[in-house]
Amino acid sequence: MYGRIALISVNGDPSAVIGAEEAGGQNVYVREVGKHLASLGYQIDMFTRRIDPSQAEVVEEAPNCRTIRLAAGPLEFVKRDNLHSYIPDFVDSLAAYARRHSYDAVHTHYWHSGMVGLALREKLGIPVVHTYHSLGAIKYMNVAEIPASAQLRLSGERRILEQADRIVATSPQEAEHMRTYVSRKGSVDIIPCGVDARHFMETDRAAARRVLGWTEQEKVVLYVGRFDKRKGIETLVRAVAQIEEPVRLVIGGGYTPDRGDGVEFERIRGIVEEVGLTSRTQFTGRIDQADLPNFYTAADVCVVPSHYEPFGLVAIEAMACGTPVIASAVGGLCYSVVNDETGLLVPPRDAEGFAGAIRRVITDAGLRERFSAAGIRRIHDHFTWAGVSRQLGRLYANLAARRTAQRPPKQQSVA
Ligand code: UDP
Repeated sequence: MYGRIALISVNGDPSAVIGAEEAGGQNVYVREVGKHLASLGYQIDMFTRRIDPSQAEVVEEAPNCRTIRLAAGPLEFVKRDNLHSYIPDFVDSLAAYARRHSYDAVHTHYWHSGMVGLALREKLGIPVVHTYHSLGAIKYMNVAEIPASAQLRLSGERRILEQADRIVATSPQEAEHMRTYVSRKGSVDIIPCGVDARHFMETDRAAARRVLGWTEQEKVVLYVGRFDKRKGIETLVRAVAQIEEPVRLVIGGGYTPDRGDGVEFERIRGIVEEVGLTSRTQFTGRIDQADLPNFYTAADVCVVPSHYEPFGLVAIEAMACGTPVIASAVGGLCYSVVNDETGLLVPPRDAEGFAGAIRRVITDAGLRERFSAAGIRRIHDHFTWAGVSRQLGRLYANLAARRTAQRPPKQQSVA
């Protein structure tokens, strides 16, 4: 049974350009799940906050799948730590919309949206599925600056876990974190994130290197992601500085001067200079999704050095392209990367450990081939958006069936 589903992502616009501040995995998740569910037969509306008067209010992403940008607060970018004040406005705008379309379920993303979902259920009785994308309880253990909204977020995340109809954890590690640090109540299913396996696949490595201006012989270590302290780029830079062989370090990701990611970019550039890697480091800026398969294929290894990573799409995108991954042994990375099978796991913040792992992978072609083949297999078996969307579809269908069963039977009309 296919139905009409609302995906709610207040802070992560599924139609946004990906790869800069606050536009990363969550945006990709919502867009890809939306498009894939629509191709299965669902009607998908993806709701987000409009942040610029020049933005279209409705974007058709695919047949039966559109992004709808609602008015809630000022028409400008607001950091996600300050977005909670606009939750009531968002609920009002969404409720007006939802009354005109009858949604079978809403699937909410990140805690603000979870709060919107609970408020909407109170008004209209629509079941709520929630995915956290990041847990405040874990994040705050890993960052130095705790925002003023932290308590609100922590209590909101607890309420969502205990009250949403279903929670989707994207890894067993995330489910365990919820149980240990948020609440033992609530119903949790594990459905991972995915990749579009028709897009993220191995390209011709020699051709990719020519396009990127990398020589055939040089060893290339790649990072892809946002400039955010919790991504641990500093650890990677300090690791590469310890490697005797002259590798090329490629750091891909967008940033805006004076915003949070611009500040982190400048800090990383300073460290690159301090450790003497300036001539060997290439900052590419934001890499378009269309160009990413070339970057992954052409690199010898992709490093994901996060301090905390609820899932980490970059790791599975690289694996899908046949590139070994060296990642921090944290969160969902312990689920996607199988140590010594598809790549290597290293304790977070351990520059020496990362240096040793990078050295091992770049000097052993046989190991790279083994990791590459096992990584591709693992992605096709467990981490594609097509498979993820089928699992989500079954979850929505169960909820809709339960809702129908709970409705009181219609009165028989007497002739
Ligand atoms: N990304 C991109 N271009 C860039 C940097 C990142 O398209 O220059 C994409 C990347 O391919 C991935 C997403 O941004 O799909 C990052 O997701 P991930 O889960 O790794 O990290 P998050 O941003 O959620 O912390």
